Amino acid sequence: MSVKPVDPWNTCLNTSLEQEDPEIFSIVENEKLRQWSGLELIASENFTSQAVIEANGTPLTNKYSEGLPGARYYGGNEFIDELERLCQKRALEAFGLNPEVWGVNVQPYSGSTANFAALTALIKPQDRLMGLDLPSGGHLTHGYQTQKKKISSSSIYFTSMPYQVDPTTGLIDYKRLEENAALFRPQLLICGASAYPAEWEYDTLRKIADQHSAYLMCDMAHISGLIAGNEALSPFEFCDIVTTTTHKTLRGPRAGLIFFRRDKGDDLENRVNQAVFPSCQGGPHNNTIAAIAVALKQAASPEFKQYAKQVRANALALAKALSNYGYKLATGTTVNHLILWDLKPQKLTGSKLERICDMVNITINKNSIAGDKSAVTPGGVRLGSSALTSRSLKEEDFVKIAEFLHRTVQIALAVQEKSGSKLMKDFVAALQGNEEIAQLRKEVIEFARSFPMPGFDPTKIKATVAI
Ligand SMILES: *Cc1c(COP(=O)(O)O)cnc(C)c1O
Repeated sequence: MSVKPVDPWNTCLNTSLEQEDPEIFSIVENEKLRQWSGLELIASENFTSQAVIEANGTPLTNKYSEGLPGARYYGGNEFIDELERLCQKRALEAFGLNPEVWGVNVQPYSGSTANFAALTALIKPQDRLMGLDLPSGGHLTHGYQTQKKKISSSSIYFTSMPYQVDPTTGLIDYKRLEENAALFRPQLLICGASAYPAEWEYDTLRKIADQHSAYLMCDMAHISGLIAGNEALSPFEFCDIVTTTTHKTLRGPRAGLIFFRRDKGDDLENRVNQAVFPSCQGGPHNNTIAAIAVALKQAASPEFKQYAKQVRANALALAKALSNYGYKLATGTTVNHLILWDLKPQKLTGSKLERICDMVNITINKNSIAGDKSAVTPGGVRLGSSALTSRSLKEEDFVKIAEFLHRTVQIALAVQEKSGSKLMKDFVAALQGNEEIAQLRKEVIEFARSFPMPGFDPTKIKATVAI
């Protein structure tokens, strides 16, 4: 069969990105070069697979499919229904869940929207929720507010009270949580974090939630890959609702999932599904759902269990190596993929180490450490091993990374001393033209480029910048 020619004004619809939009194409290529040439230690990031990237870039993005499989608002959804059902099935399988006990909504656009939909499903406006405080490692969407301002919609539309870690141990103070809950009487207790290097006491949390007939929700965003890989305790036995992002340790596309209990008797299934659509979202991103399904299939494989194991081994190797240099870590170690590095003993702020690491192609983020005096200048940084484990780094490579980080701290301290000021702008000015930084950067690039790159072929990058 022959196909008619394209209208001249429509030829743009079939030209490659490279030909059609060189500006965007080169930004993409430059970003690929940056990803390949650096050491990615941001704990919330990962490198997804080629198959996930391919699924994410499909014409599935064209389709509207508001509603659920078999109950859509638009026609033409026979394949989309098949896709979404397969994604749901794989989500339950990846976490070893019985479909009679658990169901899942795979439509949330991201972790934050999944959480807001979950709150919408579980509680009413002004109801009371408790979540781990942001400076204790919790997430914005767990009720965060400051003294002056309600920051997150989870504190704007609901009444929130945080629980915290004990600053001396870095561990959650469950006793104080129980006492405060007895006064606050939450309707919802949220567990899960973005910067907590320890395991969770889900049974204790369940007990506290039950004291107030509250729901228990776990936001396992950071550790869902470890849970799928049996390298972290599963929250499912104890929780009513479990949310997650799909792009952190789970290594999928950027999106969210909401798991709900079917055996609870208060119709969580309908409440969650209604909350996602129509309460909080419109049409699902079907290209993303395809990519989630691919990632979930991978997450259920024996190879992914090896990956999850290596993620932890690498984080532990980094933690031990940093401790051997005499550095202080929150909780003293890690049991998962992330490390909270307290820089207060070095008298160096997290912001400064983040900035200088950027200059040597090591990507990290500043992070508050429980007990910090100021929330504006966080006292530490957060490091994670999930992304570089996807690039096949092993324990000895993370020992090398500890050495790079140690050298970076030494340079930072010398520069801070020489500049005779504690101000960031003086620090940045004093860093210009530093030869030790140039040398370290060269070594980091060479080291980083010696490892493979998931998702794309690093030898075929057409960057327009030099790194
Ligand atoms: C990252 C994260 C989120 C938010 O995810 P986004 O996709 O960035 O919206 C929510 N909860 C926790 C615990 C997270 O770590």
